[in-house]
Amino acid sequence: MRTPYVCGNWKMNLDRAGARGLAAAIAQHRMRGVDIGLFPPAVYLDEVVRAVAGSNLVVGGQNCCDEQSGAFTGEISAAMLKDVGARVVLLGHSERRHVFGETDELIQRKIQRALADGLHVMLCVGETLAERDGGQTEAVVGRQLTRGLVGVAREALGAVTVAYEPVWAIGTGRTASPSQAADVHRYARGVCSGLYDSAAAAALRILYGGSVKADNAAELLADPDIDGALVGGASLRADHFLPIIDAAQRVSAS
Ligand code: PEP
Repeated sequence: MRTPYVCGNWKMNLDRAGARGLAAAIAQHRMRGVDIGLFPPAVYLDEVVRAVAGSNLVVGGQNCCDEQSGAFTGEISAAMLKDVGARVVLLGHSERRHVFGETDELIQRKIQRALADGLHVMLCVGETLAERDGGQTEAVVGRQLTRGLVGVAREALGAVTVAYEPVWAIGTGRTASPSQAADVHRYARGVCSGLYDSAAAAALRILYGGSVKADNAAELLADPDIDGALVGGASLRADHFLPIIDAAQRVSAS
């Protein structure tokens, strides 16, 4: 069985004290049978890593550069993230794809860089509303996965988590139904089975993201094809995020 994984993507929110306080509150929470990841703004990574020291919380970066080092003003390398205690990096988030114009090819290079520099990767994929309405969901998710995973060897797949995040559900309050999400998760696992093999695909965790909240988490996480949640807005307050962790714990204990 895949251990549920619940992650909070704080995006460009909070300040130093807020990041420290939120991380400490989450680290103090009982976390049995569930893995938890926090993705703070890069400038607070150090602070958050210190705040969760001694817990089994994983801290990650929200992005990294595809280059190793050098004259890339404003960029942050995978090695730098690792150096300050990050163990994973989010890549391909829809805001990176759609607001900052990141292509599948750039995301693939970032994945290669992150894995080579010892980070785990959370690869985000998902279709826009127009693509869903146009019947393109599987084609888009299949393309993003296939292109993103170019050059990722089977042995490296254990360092990859996939997050299915339909763009139309991110920050909109509109959530995919458990069956809509699970259909895409099964499809994505099938794509990975084709790219690797069924055992590798069966071990891969595929999280759902898009307006996950305390009141819809249990229903989504109860589906065996949904291995956890990547949470944006509701991860910014402990009293909103902890019930999502509790829902995942209940699923894992059942
Ligand atoms: C996200 O940004 O990854 C996300 C899922 O956001 P929200 O939960 O706010 O929809």
